[in-house]
Amino acid sequence: MYRKEILEIAQGHDSFYIYDGAVVSKNIDRLKDNFHGIEFFYSVKCNPFLDVVRAVFNQGLGADCASLGEVEAATGLGVPREKVHFSAPGKSDMDIEESLEKATIICDSIDEVRRTNRIAENKAMSVDIGIRINPAVDFYGGPGIPSKFGIDEAQYFVAAGELRKLKNVKIVGFHVHQVSQELDWHIIKEYHSRVFSLGCRLGDTIEGDFKFINLGSGIGIPYGEDDTEVDVDLLGRATSQMAEDFHRENPGTRIIIETGRYIVGKAGTYITRVMDKKESLDKVYVILKNTLNGFARPALANVMSGHAREPLFTGKNAFAISAITESQTLEKVTLAGNLCTSADIIAEDIVLPRLKPGDLVIINNAGAYGATLSPMEFSMSKKPVEFYISEESQ
Ligand SMILES: *Cc1c(COP(=O)(O)O)cnc(C)c1O
Repeated sequence: MYRKEILEIAQGHDSFYIYDGAVVSKNIDRLKDNFHGIEFFYSVKCNPFLDVVRAVFNQGLGADCASLGEVEAATGLGVPREKVHFSAPGKSDMDIEESLEKATIICDSIDEVRRTNRIAENKAMSVDIGIRINPAVDFYGGPGIPSKFGIDEAQYFVAAGELRKLKNVKIVGFHVHQVSQELDWHIIKEYHSRVFSLGCRLGDTIEGDFKFINLGSGIGIPYGEDDTEVDVDLLGRATSQMAEDFHRENPGTRIIIETGRYIVGKAGTYITRVMDKKESLDKVYVILKNTLNGFARPALANVMSGHAREPLFTGKNAFAISAITESQTLEKVTLAGNLCTSADIIAEDIVLPRLKPGDLVIINNAGAYGATLSPMEFSMSKKPVEFYISEESQ
């Protein structure tokens, strides 16, 4: 933990994120060292803070973009068109028009392919596009499931002949993404294996260049104490072997893996100040600055139940909470935010060193889907500030 930096920044701010550039670089290097024949794209929606994104792109990653805004950010940072994929359901005509030259558009429905063709025609352009496919098999090997994302595999094979005739778009690649935050490398390996063989069949439907197959994400990070890290050494070895086999049949087809949280999830820490403390019946409440409206995931986890709903809800106890305070005495407290809603509670009856107003509470695993996913506009309160700390900037 950057204790010195935290205390310095805390002199001027009651709530803030810090992102550790060294952790970002280490995670990128681990991916590059273990996966061969594979390119990595960074999922910008996970953490779009400009210094983070710039650092990631400076290390050669491409951009997985979920909006025109993200496409423009990537382009602004110099990422070339073939390394910017724009994949999202429900793109507007303007989204498509504005990104034709900046990104490879990954069409999310058959109608969107036709619409992209029309828009390209109006601009007298002919563009390479990708197609997002909803496979006939789910992430775990079971039967396919309905999805608002992509085109069902079976539907695509029926439509492929018609889509090939379109004059202003050329299908050159495919994108599959089913699940985030998987920790079992065997499951991810099996998933990769299925996407490679699906990729071979999809590749047969296009004439000419089969330029890329994008395997999407899936690689998770440990949140709670019971979670174990994905074995990226073993996964990397297995997937690199599959990539080699795939390249034997499809030389020149780029293989892409997308990831957001693996790179930045553990690089982020959220710091918030104790604003007040009070007792109500048998509970001690510590009131913090900007919790639901600063780093929403811990508060959401507290009101959610059942299975994971990534990226809103990973599980209970996914975020370790600690404190910077002078007291050594332990005390059972409930940590709440300062919003006027009873949903703004991040932990009930947890034991921490005794806190007083002015002290700081520290939450880990805050790098992915943190600031970007929190309803900061709620109650017109001031937002937390974000800081990227790297060796070069120290
Ligand atoms: C959000 C998203 C990702 C990133 O998921 P992580 O769990 O952060 O790695 C990758 N691909 C697509 C299509 C996504 O929507």
